[in-house]
Amino acid sequence: MKDLKLASNGRGRRTVVHVGDVNFGEGFCVIAGPCSVENERQTLETATAVKKAGADMLRGGAFKPRSSPYSFQGLGLEGLKILDLARKETGLPVVTEVIDPRDVSWVAEFADVLQIGTRNMQNFALLKEVGRVDTPVLLKRGMYSTLEEWLNCAEYILSEGNPNVILCERGIRTFERYTRNTLDLSAVPAMRELTHLPVVVDPTHSTGRISLVGPMSLAALTAGADGIMVEVHCRPQEALCDADQALTPEQFGQMMSKIRPLQHFLAAVPETLRPT
Ligand code: PEP
Ligand code: MN
Repeated sequence: MKDLKLASNGRGRRTVVHVGDVNFGEGFCVIAGPCSVENERQTLETATAVKKAGADMLRGGAFKPRSSPYSFQGLGLEGLKILDLARKETGLPVVTEVIDPRDVSWVAEFADVLQIGTRNMQNFALLKEVGRVDTPVLLKRGMYSTLEEWLNCAEYILSEGNPNVILCERGIRTFERYTRNTLDLSAVPAMRELTHLPVVVDPTHSTGRISLVGPMSLAALTAGADGIMVEVHCRPQEALCDADQALTPEQFGQMMSKIRPLQHFLAAVPETLRPT
């Protein structure tokens, strides 16, 4: 990985990406919210519920990169305004996806973190554009990408001047069909060796199964991840996107009641006895 001038792990230092009061690279940051912003009521209801359950940050897509051009594509500007409202209502910073280089500068005015989705990981024009703003970027791993390719994409952003990159492992395509993707949890400690950037895990898109989101979130925490990003919807059966994998606020609350004690337990374990 000789071409990684900025993303590689220089002498064991760790980068902390600050998003308001949330610090990626310290503790365990929990991002939660709907796959997409559908309307004001759905977003505010979900945002309030995840905040109550202890989430640190809200997610929600206003621009959706859908496999079919006939599927719901997101509300665009209207969705960003709803996210702004949800942020004011809950105090939670917001991460939202940007899919077009031409939209980066104005979407950055609404977003606390810009998300680059798996399908756009190697959209180099988009990477360069998010590298030119100072809004932090959540860079998801391409579903067919190696760790080296993923890190080179982080390098594109860093080399344009934006040092605030958070990596997100969201599962890769394998022959397995029971899960939507295969969560490569080994990417977490591997990235710890390879880069100074924080790494979070998306247990939702990687498994595609509600029953597996909780167990893999706990596994991500134990593997040394800096956080998770989880899809939660106030009424999953009505969701316009990814309805089968969204947790209800109640399920999310139950999961959080396991995550925080495990986080505190691991923090209290002497460093020499910790898994990572
Ligand atoms: C998402 O997080 O909403 C999303 C579309 O994820 P991915 O790009 O990982 O499929
Ligand atoms: Mn989704």
